[in-house]
Amino acid sequence: MVQELNKPSVGIIGAGPAGCCAAYFLKDDCAVTLIDYSHPLRTILPTGGGRCNLAYAEYDFKELVKYYPRGEKFLYSVFSKFSTVDTVWLFERLGITTYVQQDLRIFPDSNSSKDVQDAFLRQLKNVPVKKERALRIEPLKDKIKVVTDMDSYYFDSLIVATGGHAGYEMIERLGVKIIPPRPSLVGLVTKENLKPLAGVSLTNVESNGMSGDILFTHKGISGPLIYKISSIKARDKFPYLLSLDLYPENFDLQQLFNDNPHKQINNLLSGFIPKKVVNYILKSLDIADDLKCHKINGEMRDLILDSIHNFTVNIIDVNKDVEVVTAGGIDLNEVNPKSLESKKIKGLYFIGEILDIDGFCGGFNLQNCWSTAYVAANFILDSNI
Ligand SMILES: Cc1cc2nc3c(=O)[nH]c(=O)nc-3n(C[C@H](O)[C@H](O)[C@H](O)COP(=O)(O)OP(=O)(O)OC[C@H]3O[C@@H](n4cnc5c(N)ncnc54)[C@H](O)[C@@H]3O)c2cc1C
Repeated sequence: MVQELNKPSVGIIGAGPAGCCAAYFLKDDCAVTLIDYSHPLRTILPTGGGRCNLAYAEYDFKELVKYYPRGEKFLYSVFSKFSTVDTVWLFERLGITTYVQQDLRIFPDSNSSKDVQDAFLRQLKNVPVKKERALRIEPLKDKIKVVTDMDSYYFDSLIVATGGHAGYEMIERLGVKIIPPRPSLVGLVTKENLKPLAGVSLTNVESNGMSGDILFTHKGISGPLIYKISSIKARDKFPYLLSLDLYPENFDLQQLFNDNPHKQINNLLSGFIPKKVVNYILKSLDIADDLKCHKINGEMRDLILDSIHNFTVNIIDVNKDVEVVTAGGIDLNEVNPKSLESKKIKGLYFIGEILDIDGFCGGFNLQNCWSTAYVAANFILDSNI
């Protein structure tokens, strides 16, 4: 107990992946207190569809940073200290062995987020967790005070890891700038009524220099390619136009017409793209779907080709029901990337998704948590030697 009193005190607001990971790195050398109004690591359970996609198998950190539409430059320094290989090592130390899926996403061998939660909680069993809501942070001369809905605490250092959906007002009151948070990695809502296409998926669609699968939904479009686009365009104002190449390969439509003069246009095109999409396109062009190919003139052919290669929709919103991460958060100009310490308030650190950092789907957002947690914890440990 006496020894505990001599240790520097570190408060951590938020027991999500970032906060718990920082607590793990600090627990042996500091008197750590976690503050979370909810159950620790509750937020890791739904990750990766319950399998926890904890990292991505890109081992060159200079390449890894390129998967973050926001934070690329900042993470260069962070990942130079802790990136994919270190994450795999961290999980091995926690007793979680991992495997790399074909698409390079890394999962625990057990495919269980619950196992990841349990492994951290076993390690943190001696770290006190205050089940309280932090309301205010007050920097004092040598300490940082945290006022919760039940009590007040004083720490030598304070880490804020409240994620992408909370804690902003508390931080803004300290004069720290917040970039307004917007949903990212979400489906998009279209002005056009795409309900007749709901449930139809297309593979290898191209848009904005990227390629991937899409899925039509009741509200618009979704799927891996759309998530990426929603991430890149997270700060764009609605409405914006999105053009999709539904069949990026070159195909000589006129030659196909010549070879199949008596075939119905919808039957011919459904050899390339799903019939429901073909019918939607033909309807929007006012071309009868049962028209024989020999009756299609050059103008109609060009319109059809343009609608396939340049399928344009008006994006009017994101599908808020399925938000995965937020673009926005603490302005990175406010934070030192070498320590994650606030440039304005000594002893105050920000880690995880509360920062204006977000990556694509693939384990990048949890990697941000592990890496920023490590760098902040390591700096606190080094400063207290
Ligand atoms: C459905 C879903 C699936 C996902 N899958 C993946 C995936 O497979 N791979 C990946 O890399 N990323 C994934 N993500 C994103 C990833 O889960 C987040 O980026 C990550 O959880 C952020 O961690 P964090 O610790 O920064 O914040 P959070 O996980 O949001 O944790 C913040 C914690 O702070 C607490 N808190 C907030 N405010 C206060 C307060 N005032 N006082 C006390 N406590 C407070 C909250 O209760 C919470 O426990 C997924 C996200 C979702 C929603």
